[in-house]
Amino acid sequence: MPRIERIEVHDIRFPTSRQLDGSDAMNAAPDYSATYVILHTSGDALSGHGLTFTIGRGNDLCVAAVQALSAQVEGRDLAEITADMGRFWRELTSGDSQLRWLGPEKGVMHLASAALVNAVWDLWAKHEEKPVWKLLTDMTPEALVRCLDFRFVTDALTPEEAIGLLKRQQSGKAERESWLREHGYPGYTTSAGWLGYSEEKMRTLCREALADGWDQFKQKVGGDIEEDRRRARILREEIGESRVLMMDANQMWDVDESVENMRRLAEFNPYWIEEPTSPDDILGHAEIRHRLGSIRVATGEHCHNRVMFKQFFQAEALDVCQLDAARLGGLNEVILVLLLAAKFDIPVCPHGGGVGLCEYTQHISMFDYIAVSGSLDGRVLEYVDHLHEHFVDPVTVVRGRYQLPRAPGYSATLKADSLAAHHYPDGSAWRDAQAHA
Ligand SMILES: [Mg+2]
Repeated sequence: MPRIERIEVHDIRFPTSRQLDGSDAMNAAPDYSATYVILHTSGDALSGHGLTFTIGRGNDLCVAAVQALSAQVEGRDLAEITADMGRFWRELTSGDSQLRWLGPEKGVMHLASAALVNAVWDLWAKHEEKPVWKLLTDMTPEALVRCLDFRFVTDALTPEEAIGLLKRQQSGKAERESWLREHGYPGYTTSAGWLGYSEEKMRTLCREALADGWDQFKQKVGGDIEEDRRRARILREEIGESRVLMMDANQMWDVDESVENMRRLAEFNPYWIEEPTSPDDILGHAEIRHRLGSIRVATGEHCHNRVMFKQFFQAEALDVCQLDAARLGGLNEVILVLLLAAKFDIPVCPHGGGVGLCEYTQHISMFDYIAVSGSLDGRVLEYVDHLHEHFVDPVTVVRGRYQLPRAPGYSATLKADSLAAHHYPDGSAWRDAQAHA
């Protein structure tokens, strides 16, 4: 196996705020960005690529955090890391107590850990010549569980229980894999419902999405409630009554406001309300869920670690788990949350969008279906139609369904020319913007 000789980290930003792509009530004008890591190996025959997602300013802080953590990865043999991935993960996230102090296991440090951890998985999968979902589904339950750090969650899930959950799904794995190969994994689209889009743009995007075969849609809410209702009416006019419409408030409301506003939006039959309030307010989500009754509560894209998810599950505070591939500390922690969700019988619908998140989540959801939950019930994978063209191996979606990734790795390798053009602040995409300013 190769040895990781050198780590490169880049501040990559896309000027998406110019079109208000990604605009929501909390995030008015994001520039989708990535802290992008390349692990160079001995001889450079293989390299591991990983990223974490931010929305512009502050991406440089994440880059600095990766640089601070890099010493723990540089110079190590891949074989030594993969022999005990669980230990590697704990050392990276907690081994340096001075750096751990900045979290622990949350915020900029954890985002940076995710970029490094995901790059290691990419390197491992490329070395095994498998896509990440296949690397995972081919592992024995015991080998998979050795990749995880159960510290702080054994009151809810022990390694032995996790092995039991994985063994439960062993028998149907081959059938589910071939089913996915034939049918793909169901998705929903957020692309028509951004808050900053005009009515005309929303209607056009809805019609295009319907023609492309989408039947599940998401709308951003959390602005003026009458405006939210007007936009919901437009969306319902376009997609009809029978198709699924989710709503996403992006943390704008207090607990009482969440209940009041969703009662005013209930006539549009929302399938779920996503992030109604602070992402840290576990008991607040439980209260909203209890009072809303029939509208599901979804959250998790800003939930920073397995401990919080454990409490969300224990408190019965959510109906849908929307873990994020790069806000949790990379794939190891994502797998642990998938297992916790399986134990509590909560469907996982990962957070997509940004840059590279859909490329990651396709592996996560396919692995979940084949080997962890064994179910598609209540599960649907977010799709946002931005920036895929910059990836070497982008997602393929046909008629609203993600196709099984085939290329080795974790699908987050950026094209060399995209990397150069979006380097901040000296890439051509940013130099040109300054020239026109
Ligand atoms: Mg969201």
